[in-house]
Amino acid sequence: MSFRRLETVDLIGKTAIVRVDFNVPRNADGDITDDTRIQSALPTIKHLQAKGAKTVLLSHFGRPKGQHNPAMSLQFIVPALEAALGKKVTFIEKPSPTLIAELDQDAIVLVENTRFTTMETEGHPDMAKFLASLGDVFIMDAFSASHRKHASSAVIGEYLPSYAGLAMERELDHLAAALDHPKTPVMALVGGAKVSSKIDLLENLVSRLDTLVIGGGMANTFLYAQGYDVGASLCEKDLRDKALDILKAAENANCRIVLPIDVVVATEFKANAESRVCALDAVKSNEMILDAGPETVSVILDVMDASKTLIWNGPLGAFEMTPFDTSTVECAKYAAKLCRKDAITAVAGGGDTVAALALADVLDDFTFISTAGGAFLEWMEGKPLPGVDILKA
Ligand code: AMP
Repeated sequence: MSFRRLETVDLIGKTAIVRVDFNVPRNADGDITDDTRIQSALPTIKHLQAKGAKTVLLSHFGRPKGQHNPAMSLQFIVPALEAALGKKVTFIEKPSPTLIAELDQDAIVLVENTRFTTMETEGHPDMAKFLASLGDVFIMDAFSASHRKHASSAVIGEYLPSYAGLAMERELDHLAAALDHPKTPVMALVGGAKVSSKIDLLENLVSRLDTLVIGGGMANTFLYAQGYDVGASLCEKDLRDKALDILKAAENANCRIVLPIDVVVATEFKANAESRVCALDAVKSNEMILDAGPETVSVILDVMDASKTLIWNGPLGAFEMTPFDTSTVECAKYAAKLCRKDAITAVAGGGDTVAALALADVLDDFTFISTAGGAFLEWMEGKPLPGVDILKA
């Protein structure tokens, strides 16, 4: 994908408005429980400082619904960011061009939660224009916010020259390598609970892949559509025709669909519930399919061996409960092994995927793991991302 990159901008004496994502998780005491998003913002901030730009950071936090809500102030980020940067960070509740102009050229400013006004989520041009008036260039570094046409993450790009920050650049380059110009054959593994939440994604993928593996609860709907009795399994029977349409579209596009050929069933939805492996036509009426069976895993590993690119979204079973994490963990570990041998490029993201891959202890081995839930899914669905469109060269 061709987009404007940070290294191409002359930044000396300029003020850069940077959209980051500081929507970090906190515990009941207000402590930051995972600072990945703060860490991700550091390379761009350091680059701007090194190149002589004043840095004004914008972010949302939580869902204050357009109200000023002190519990959702971004002020708590300041000490964490100062510690990570080893530099003072100035927090500004109500910014203005004069206030920003008065600060030293090496200042780093954090502006209060952009969602304290409804104009942010409305993508209101007045807010975008105002934010643009605070600086000279806009740097978009929050891929996770790029699927929304909000004032601070997309509309501002209509009023300032806009460039991808370094985290954004890394994300876009990896995603492009997985779907826009991948090494073929390309496979995707899509799991998770429901077909209904992934129809657009499946429809987009079948036209772009060599093989699509469907697992998790959503596979049950496909098995049901093919005439199997899925017993008491999670299954969206009303989506039978949609599932058949997707299978037909895959056939027309020459995309091989891999569904479970054996399954792990239990009568109780709980960890360590008594379970058994059975064939697709042997699921009893009181049993739930909670994982793919060993023969299915073996087929998936063969597909991985034959593929050069893997896109992974969603678990293959109810992975939060042993032993129903087995197929997810085995497939993830195998993909990780192929990555270590440089035999496959594996990109993963969306929903529970990161938690499932963390359980398999493969986060460091995959080529790239996106923590941008919604934006990653919309990218997989082939939808335009407003925060990316403003960067296109
Ligand atoms: P999603 O957010 O759509 O990726 O769905 C993830 C959820 O799907 C996880 O909580 C899994 O436990 C659940 N899941 C996966 N496979 C099954 C299954 N066979 N039956 C019920 N839930 C499942």
